[in-house]
Amino acid sequence: LGGSISRAIQQMSNATIIDEKVLNECLNEITRALLQADVQFKLVREMQTNIKKIVNLDDLAAGHNKRRIIQQAIFNELCKILDPGKPSFTPKKGKPSVIMFVGLQGSGKTTTCTKYAYYHQKKGWKPALVCADTFRAGAFDQLKQNATKAKIPFYGSYTESDPVRIAVEGVETFKKENCDLIIVDTSGRHKQEAALFEEMRQVSEATKPDLVIFVMDSSIGQAAFDQAQAFKQSVSVGAVIVTKMDGHAKGGGALSAVAATKSPVIFIGTGEHMDEFEVFDVKPFVSRLLGMGDWSGFMDKIHEVVPMDQQPELLQKLSEGNFTLRIMYEQFQNILKMGPIGQVFSMLPGFSSELMPKGREKESQAKIKRYMTMMDSMTNEGKQLLFISNPKLMNDSRIMRIARGSGRQVREVMEMLEEYKRLAKIWSKMKGLKIPKKGEMSAL
Ligand code: GDP
Ligand code: MG
Repeated sequence: LGGSISRAIQQMSNATIIDEKVLNECLNEITRALLQADVQFKLVREMQTNIKKIVNLDDLAAGHNKRRIIQQAIFNELCKILDPGKPSFTPKKGKPSVIMFVGLQGSGKTTTCTKYAYYHQKKGWKPALVCADTFRAGAFDQLKQNATKAKIPFYGSYTESDPVRIAVEGVETFKKENCDLIIVDTSGRHKQEAALFEEMRQVSEATKPDLVIFVMDSSIGQAAFDQAQAFKQSVSVGAVIVTKMDGHAKGGGALSAVAATKSPVIFIGTGEHMDEFEVFDVKPFVSRLLGMGDWSGFMDKIHEVVPMDQQPELLQKLSEGNFTLRIMYEQFQNILKMGPIGQVFSMLPGFSSELMPKGREKESQAKIKRYMTMMDSMTNEGKQLLFISNPKLMNDSRIMRIARGSGRQVREVMEMLEEYKRLAKIWSKMKGLKIPKKGEMSAL
C-alpha cells in the first residue's frame, strides 16, 4: 500500500504541469490503495472530496513541496476520520465500573477481556471477569484459564444457561468485593444474529455497563462498517478495540468501526499473549496505514531539533536497542527538561502517549519525578543496578529496599518497573534500524 501511494505522489510530482487531471489521477491511485487496506469505500470517497477542497492547485503549481502538501492532506484526513471528537468513558480507580465486551464469535473478545483486565491490574486496579457467554461450550473454561493465569477473580457457571442472570450475579458479586473494573464477556454466536443482538440488549439493560467495548477482528475487511453499526444499534457502544493487528490485515477497518460507532479505538491487540496489547495512537497508526513507517516523523525530528554533535550518540544508542534503566533515567531527564531530545522522545510512537497523556502533563511530570526518585535509590544500592536491562534481576528484597530507600511503596516500584518494560519493548523496535543521514529522509 505504502508503495502505491508513494508511487502515485511521486508520479504527480514529476509532472511539469499539475492540473486537475494529474491531481485526479493521483487521488484515484491513492483511493485504490486505501480500498486495498480495507478502508470503507464511502470513507475513501469522502476523503477524496475533502482533499480536493483542501489542496490548492495553485500552491502545487507554484513549486511548493507537492508531495508534502498532498501527503499531509491525506494524513490529516485519515486522522480526522479516526477521531470521533469525544473521548470514551474513562473508568476511575477505586470506583466500580462495569465494562461490557461485545463482538462476533472469534473476534477476540475473551482474549481481549483478559488483556484489558491484566493491563489495568498491572497499574494497580482491581479487575474481575464475568463470563456471560453461555452459548459456546467451553467459553467458561477458556475465561477461567485466562483469569487464573493472570490471577484475576472470575465468575461463571457450567450449568446456568441464562446469560443475563450470570452477568447480573457476577457484577453484584464483584461490586461487593470492591472490584473497580468489572468486565463482562459475552457470547458472539454466528448465524443467529437477531438472537445475539437481543441478548446483548438484555445483558446491557440488566448490568447497566458504564462502557460497552466493541471488539473487532482487523482482518474482516470491508465488513467492518456494517458489523460495527449492527452492534451500535442494539447496545450503546462507546469504544472500539481492534484485534489481530499482528497479522496481515492493514487495519483500515478500524476507520470504519470508528465511523460506524462514533467511538474511538482505545487499544489494539497485537498477538495471542496477555501482554500483546497496546494503547491505540492515531498518528503512528495512520503512518503505518500509509506506509510511512512509524519512525519517519521521529527521525525527521531528531535531525531537526537535536544538536548535530549529540545526534551520533543518540542514534547509536537507539540502534543498539538495549534499553537499560540508565537510559530510561536519562530520557526522563530529557523529557522533563523538554529540551530538544525531550521533544524527540515525546514523538516516539507509544513512548509518551501513556507516560504523558495530553492534558495531564502536571500529573505525568510528578509521576516521572517519582520514578526518578526510586531510581536514585537504586544507585545507592550499588551503581551497577542502573545498568541492568533485565528487570527479572529485581527480586523481592531488592524491590523492598528500593521502596524503603525512596520512601515509596512496593506497589509503586513495581509500577515503575512495568513502565520500564513497556518502554524497553518500544525501544527495542529501533534495534538494527538503518539510520538515514540528514537529507535522506524522503517524504514517504
Ligand atoms: P471470542 O470468540 O470473541 O471470545 O474470541 P477469542 O478471544 O476466543 O479469540 C479467538 C482467537 O483469536 C483465539 O485463538 C485467540 O488466541 C485469537 N486472538 C485474539 N486476539 C488476538 C490478537 O490480537 N492477535 C492474534 N494473533 N490472535 C488473537
Ligand atoms: Mg469468547
